[in-house]
Amino acid sequence: MKIETSRRVELIDITDVVKEAVETSDILNGICVISTTHTTTSIIVNENESGLRDDILNLLERLVPPSAGYQHDRIDDNADSHLKAVLLGSSEAIPIIDGKLVLGTWQSIFFAEMDGPRHRKVNIMIIRQS
Ligand code: ZN
Repeated sequence: MKIETSRRVELIDITDVVKEAVETSDILNGICVISTTHTTTSIIVNENESGLRDDILNLLERLVPPSAGYQHDRIDDNADSHLKAVLLGSSEAIPIIDGKLVLGTWQSIFFAEMDGPRHRKVNIMIIRQS
């Protein structure tokens, strides 16, 4: 899937797109792997509540403030974006049972942009249980 991000740092809920991919795959049991192909973005699973979304982004800013003397900033000026992506990880694997993603009531899948706005890609791979 393609994503157009609109801010430098933001969380975008992609749960509905992933669910649709699973439901149209005709795979009843297996695993869905959602991964990002970029080094300054991440995939995470958590609750889609506006205050919590801000809390997550604020936590990342506190842990990895921009321009804090990073070596990578000498060539690219986005070291904080890479480091935030390292903390959150590049993929999530979610089970599929009876044709549905196994997500808890409050779990959503997010694409995390840390160096936007940009054109981004997310890979969704669905693997059938043998
Ligand atoms: Zn860079």
